Amino acid sequence: MAGKGDIGLIGLAVMGQNLILNMADHGFTVVAFNRSIEKVHQFLANEAKGKSIVGAESIADLASKLKLPRRIMLLVKAGDAVDNFIGQLVPHLQQGDIIIDGGNSEYQDSERRSKELAAKGIRFVGSGVSGGEEGARYGPSLMPGGNKEAWPYIKDIFQGIAAKADGQPCCDWVGNDGAGHFVKMVHNGIEYGDMQLIGEVYHLMTALGINQEQMAQTFDRWNKGILDSFLIEITRDILQYKDKDGKYLLPKIRDTAGQKGTGKWTAISALNYGVPVTLIGEAVFSRCLSALKSERQHASTKLQGPTTKFSGNVEKFLDDLEQALYAAKIVSYAQGFMLLREAAKVHNWDLDYGAIALMWRGGCIIRSVFLGKIKEAFDKDTNLQSLLLDPFFLNAITKAQTGWRNVVSTAVNLGIPTPALGTALAFYDGYRTERLPANLLQAQRDYFGAHTYELLGQEGKFVHTNWTGHG
Ligand code: NAP
Repeated sequence: MAGKGDIGLIGLAVMGQNLILNMADHGFTVVAFNRSIEKVHQFLANEAKGKSIVGAESIADLASKLKLPRRIMLLVKAGDAVDNFIGQLVPHLQQGDIIIDGGNSEYQDSERRSKELAAKGIRFVGSGVSGGEEGARYGPSLMPGGNKEAWPYIKDIFQGIAAKADGQPCCDWVGNDGAGHFVKMVHNGIEYGDMQLIGEVYHLMTALGINQEQMAQTFDRWNKGILDSFLIEITRDILQYKDKDGKYLLPKIRDTAGQKGTGKWTAISALNYGVPVTLIGEAVFSRCLSALKSERQHASTKLQGPTTKFSGNVEKFLDDLEQALYAAKIVSYAQGFMLLREAAKVHNWDLDYGAIALMWRGGCIIRSVFLGKIKEAFDKDTNLQSLLLDPFFLNAITKAQTGWRNVVSTAVNLGIPTPALGTALAFYDGYRTERLPANLLQAQRDYFGAHTYELLGQEGKFVHTNWTGHG
């Protein structure tokens, strides 16, 4: 190699290899390393051939081949592998060097690593990387957080390789410690929500008596309007896809959804922070319910439901479905940003919500035109309390609600489960209700546990009543 490498990358699985190729395409010299060293040799002999990519035979070799301050990115299995590599790297690094973890790490781990490494003079960055294999190769969404001193040294590489939306990179500094991985986690949770909503809409479509080609055409039409997004686009393609036998592949796929955990982490965080992120919660539980396939098979022969058939106007109902999906999506993103806001308060992160929307606007699975509108909303009002109160979204959800209510009530009458569409509507109605029945709840709590309650107009003063006594 003529000069020293710009960045080292450890982990030559699908994400690491593609990110290295992307970096090389953008003019950076990358030093590649992997636990199983034969993968380095294979990569150099094949995909990396002729590019500005060199291999390292050991951690010491990797460290010796990098410019100062060293920039080393890990793309290995989240968890112990990250701590192991950090432990191996530290003796070969010097003050000011930078370790970046681009895996799907838990934000609490990034927070811990950031603090531990800062104490040793090493700058740690925990970065969300989204977009899968294709994104890594041609432009991911990148969400870096951690030690901000590292940002000037990695900004050019990160913003250079990131996806671009309206000419702007889908990558910006997120915040301290675990902020990057927290934002990535919420992104994944929102992805669960978007996928669940589309699944429910597909389920309802199957009750309308339309064929799969008509469903695909509907998704194709939606993809040209307000729902224009990657997930709507791939759903159209999936619906159209025919197997070798000429039959559609989709109905042959076993209806049990897998999960790797980031949706669950989002739901757990929501519970921990006390934020009603109900839609993502339902999306996670829906995957759990889908996994109970044999129980469901048995129950389907025992438990009764409505026998009603859809009898409305199909075209009109498809329009209502578009509105319902749009409205529920607005609620889901509003809830996701509520969670970000609460976590930012607790951790003292100075999150830029418009910039986060831009990071998700391109390169990642939830990319959509819709995120451009969210960016505009937060750019207009950085203190926006809820996305639902932004004039654009307030108007959109007001217009959508008749169709949305029709979809949810039709689903109830047909006995088709729509947990995400339904919980979004329940949240919307709860959020816009000035007086909720929590007064009764407080009275019950006081009745059985003397938990006390406040009287309206006398907030801050807690009183107890002997509910079984007389006056
Ligand atoms: P992966 O399958 O998650 O991990 C494989 C890599 O980790 C290999 O380089 C492997 O080395 C190394 N590794 C595994 N266990 C190790 C250990 N105990 N000690 C040292 N190294 C170990 O790879 P990936 O799919 O490319 O993902 C990399 C990271 O990016 C993960 O955190 C993943 O969650 C995240 N991510 C993935 C995607 C995606 O679409 N795949 C998208 C965004 C983020 P060996 O070759 O020696 O086994």
